[in-house]
Amino acid sequence: MTVKEIISVLEEMAPLSYQESYDNAGLITGKEQMDCTGILCTLDVTEAILQESIEKKCNLIIAHHPIVFKGLTKINGKNFVERIVIQAIKNDIAIYAIHTNLDNVSNGVNAAIAQQLGITNTQILAPKKNGLMKLVSFVPIESAEMVKEALFKAGAGNIGEYSETSFSSVGIGSFKPSEKANPRIGQRTIKELVKEERIEVILPNFLQSAVLFALKNAHPYEEVAYDFYPLSNENQLVGSGMIGYLPSPISSIAFLELLKAKFGLSVIKHSPIIQEKVQKIAFCGGAGSFLIPQAKAAKADFFVSADIKYHDFFEADNTLVIADIGHWESEQFTVDLVFAELTTKFPNFAVLKTANYTNPVSYFLG
Ligand SMILES: [Zn+2]
Repeated sequence: MTVKEIISVLEEMAPLSYQESYDNAGLITGKEQMDCTGILCTLDVTEAILQESIEKKCNLIIAHHPIVFKGLTKINGKNFVERIVIQAIKNDIAIYAIHTNLDNVSNGVNAAIAQQLGITNTQILAPKKNGLMKLVSFVPIESAEMVKEALFKAGAGNIGEYSETSFSSVGIGSFKPSEKANPRIGQRTIKELVKEERIEVILPNFLQSAVLFALKNAHPYEEVAYDFYPLSNENQLVGSGMIGYLPSPISSIAFLELLKAKFGLSVIKHSPIIQEKVQKIAFCGGAGSFLIPQAKAAKADFFVSADIKYHDFFEADNTLVIADIGHWESEQFTVDLVFAELTTKFPNFAVLKTANYTNPVSYFLG
C-alpha cells in the first residue's frame, strides 16, 4: 500500500483545505508514491519518535502537530526540527501532519473531547464562512434524477445532518447547434426549445472540480450549461471549538473533578467559579483562547481549552469559567482518533500508537 492511499483516507476525514491559513498540515517529508511498511501515530514528532519509527519499521509517521511549522532556512542539524528532518529523509521516513484540519471537522479533535466528557448535542462553536459554493445546472427533465445522483455521489448536497439536498424548478432551455456540433437533442443549425430542470446543489469549495467532473460525465449534452456561485454561508460542520451539554447539570467542582479524572490531570488552572450548577460546556483542544468571546456569546457555563494566558483569564468576567487543562492533555485522545480511523479502514495493516510520551510540559507538585 502506498502512502498516498493512507493519506487519502485521512483527507476524507479531515480535508486539507480545512486547515487554517497559518498551518502546515499535509505530507512534510517523504513521497506519496512510497510503499508504506507501517504507520506510527503520535501527537508530536520528536527525535525519540523518529527513532521509534525506524525501530518498529514504520516508514510513515502520522502526527497532529507539524514538525515543520515555519519556513526552514537552513538544514544543518543545529536544532531538533532540522535534525528530525535530516533523519527522516536519510531513513526514508514520511511524516504527515493532520493538524488544524482535524481541529476544524465535527468528527475531529473536539469530538474526541466531547466523547470523553459525555457531552452531547454538540455544535461547532465558531463555524467557518466562505467555504461553500452553489452549483446551478440545466438538465433535460428525463436526465435530471441521474445527474442529481451523480452530483450527490461526488459530495454535493450535504447541509448539516442532511444529505442529497437539492432544489429543482422546470423551465424552457433554448439552443441552436452549429454545423460542427453533435447535438444529443435536435438538429444542426435549427433552434431547439427543450423542457429542462434547473438543479441547484450546495458543495464545499474543495470539491468543485470533482463535482464538475461528475456533472459533465452524467449530463447528456455535448455542452453543459452550469454556474458556480460563491456563498458567504457558514458551514455548520466545519470550524473551531465545540459546544454541547452534559447529560444533567452538575456542580462546578464536580465538573472540574470530571475533567481531572477523564484527562488524567494533576492540576487545572481556572478562573473564579461563579455558579453552583453547570451543564453547557464549550471546549477547544489545544490553544483556544481566541474562542473565549464565542464561548461567552453562546452562554457556555465553562470554556475548557489550553494555553490560556494570564490576561485571558480576566475575560471570563463573571460570565463563565475558563479552565486550562494543558495542551497535550487536551489533545491526547487525538492519537486514538487517528488510530481508530486507520485500523477501521486498514484492519490488516501495521498501524501503531507511539509508546513515547511527547508532552514537553511537566508539573512539579512538591
Ligand atoms: Zn495542538
